[in-house]
Amino acid sequence: MKLSRLVEGIQLSVTLALDARAKRLAAEGRDVINMAVGEPDFPAPEAVQDAATARVQSGDVRYTPAAGAPFLREAIAAHLTETRGVDYAPENVAVCHSCKHALSGVLLATVEPGDEVLIPLPAWVSYFELVRIAGGVPVEIPPAAGCRPDLDALARAVTPRTRVLMVNSPCNPSGYVLTHAETEALARLAVEHDLTLISDEIYRRLVYEGEPAKSPVSVGPDARARTAIVDGASKAFAMTGYRIGFAAGPPELAAAVTRLHSQMTGSPNTVSQAAYAAALREEPPEVETMRREFAERREILLAGLEGLGLETPRPRGAFYVFPNVAPLLDERGSVGFCEDLLEEQNLAIVPGSAFGMDAHVRLSYSLPKDLIQAALSRLEAFVLARRPSS
Ligand code: GLU
Repeated sequence: MKLSRLVEGIQLSVTLALDARAKRLAAEGRDVINMAVGEPDFPAPEAVQDAATARVQSGDVRYTPAAGAPFLREAIAAHLTETRGVDYAPENVAVCHSCKHALSGVLLATVEPGDEVLIPLPAWVSYFELVRIAGGVPVEIPPAAGCRPDLDALARAVTPRTRVLMVNSPCNPSGYVLTHAETEALARLAVEHDLTLISDEIYRRLVYEGEPAKSPVSVGPDARARTAIVDGASKAFAMTGYRIGFAAGPPELAAAVTRLHSQMTGSPNTVSQAAYAAALREEPPEVETMRREFAERREILLAGLEGLGLETPRPRGAFYVFPNVAPLLDERGSVGFCEDLLEEQNLAIVPGSAFGMDAHVRLSYSLPKDLIQAALSRLEAFVLARRPSS
């Protein structure tokens, strides 16, 4: 079949492809440790499971409006008002099938063909392709030391075609959490150059030290007026398979995203909407238990990587580490490194090239501590065999 030029140019998501490969190898009997995919390894909280079950059993599982069920839009608006310190109403919110779906909706709603979208590196794999799908041009801006955003480079990269700035704090893959001063500077940059700011806040709850993540909407009314918050249930409530998220911004943006989704996907999953509303309403205690467990795993992994002499920016949030493996790479770069690691040690991780930084690799710590220790031993064996002897 003849396929469109658009899809011919699109890559399969590297994170999802690697996860599928690791699972396939495990199903074939290989003892694979999978640190490739970013999904909490915890069950969804009990209140979430109960709400989903109750909704199924009620029989009321028909379509909701494309913008989302009124009860969930209200719950999201109340949650945003409380946590971001700025008033939100249901008409500011478009419920989506996931955070990814919300990001694509916002990009399609705001980007004209040829518009430039600033993406501070490292950035999550799908940003680049979602921008291209929307007809935009991703403009990648390498970071300053420690994977912090290079504010001067970002300001210099603005051209008359720049339309959008995408920020993600805590960041997938580096775990970097923007300081409040950096958030303010990025918001000012957007206001000064009349840019739309897409703030991906999916890891907002998973911060382990220092000041909490600040949303650009709380910087001031000018910033709020141009910001689309994207967030969802997957990471905060261990609800990845429920597929539910949202975009929130000015009412005209929520309405535009809804118009798109009314044609493309229709009503978000009714059962998942009930489950997400319960999560937001009840703030289940399992969430804090999960955050603490992630915090402990992070320490184990960081100590192990330090022991291996791998320079790793200290992640304050999310559940990834992003060590620099440049001295260990051959001409195939981080892709070759990850292929060999999977082949030789049965350890699946993600090449940094997928996030725009080929000198690095991403390890997800969404697996129990004993497996993290076992993964570190495998990595050690691999690194020792590969390190040039001095
Ligand atoms: N966001 C997660 C990750 O980076 C889930 C997989 C995906 O959708 O890319 O691994």
